[in-house]
Amino acid sequence: RPLLEVQNLVKVYKTGKRALQEVNFIIDRPQVVAIIGSSGAGKSTFIRCINRLVEPTSGRILLNGEDIVSLDRKGLRAARRRVGMIFQEYNLVERLTVMQNVLSGRLGYVGLLNSIRYKFPPEDIRAAFELLDRVGLEGYENRRADALSGGQRQRVGIARALMQRPELLLLDEPTASLDPKTSRQIMRLVGELVNERKTPAIINIHDVALAKAHADRIIGFNDGRIVFDDVPANLTDEA
Ligand code: ADP
Ligand code: ADP
Repeated sequence: RPLLEVQNLVKVYKTGKRALQEVNFIIDRPQVVAIIGSSGAGKSTFIRCINRLVEPTSGRILLNGEDIVSLDRKGLRAARRRVGMIFQEYNLVERLTVMQNVLSGRLGYVGLLNSIRYKFPPEDIRAAFELLDRVGLEGYENRRADALSGGQRQRVGIARALMQRPELLLLDEPTASLDPKTSRQIMRLVGELVNERKTPAIINIHDVALAKAHADRIIGFNDGRIVFDDVPANLTDEA
């Protein structure tokens, strides 16, 4: 059973724009998949269909065999909890501490601001400390998010996503706000975590060199279709 299987995915926006045209895609092992393609090619729509921020027009998205397209509101919330999101602008709660931000990953949607008052079980606290160590932020738990550098914020974002124990990681331009050296460090960390936790990652990334250096597989989008799907070494300039 594949970790992720996308079948005949179509998205037509209300404007009539066909942003995704019969997209088929399978992830059958933990790997880093980079999504590239020019602006307007459908990359964000694809990611948003998988995290169910966008309602697909038709097609199926199976996460570990379970369809996450036709769901009621409750099912939708549960499906989103199975996918860990990492954002370009980190999306941390700036006035909360690193620890509060990481723990908020256990609460999901409604829980973000409640995480100040919510009493977390000791195993969650322990897991959060372990994750902070793992992403290189040991000793930072009581810092406020707004006191961190961009690279540190993204490490918090990664730790928060992993607190969900996600079945899939989705990263939307995770390095676009970072300098080149920090970008490489973050991509290296993501690659290590994918292997350690056996959780695949899909990364929307405009920096093709960074994608080639750090992804196991590259998917090229053009006009709502996948036009390239191969290992980075086979990505030529014409592709
Ligand atoms: P859906 O068709 O999925 O219901 P909507 O048509 O409601 O999506 O659009 C969601 C939002 O995105 C609206 O505020 C809409 O104005 C805006 N939007 C419309 N066209 C574009 C576009 N080309 N790129 C990005 N956002 C757009
Ligand atoms: P990319 O991420 O590759 O730049 P997008 O998925 O954002 O591409 O957009 C794909 C196409 O769908 C574009 O033509 C874009 O203008 C259009 N689009 C994106 N969001 C909306 C929306 N909410 N409503 C209408 N059209 C949209």
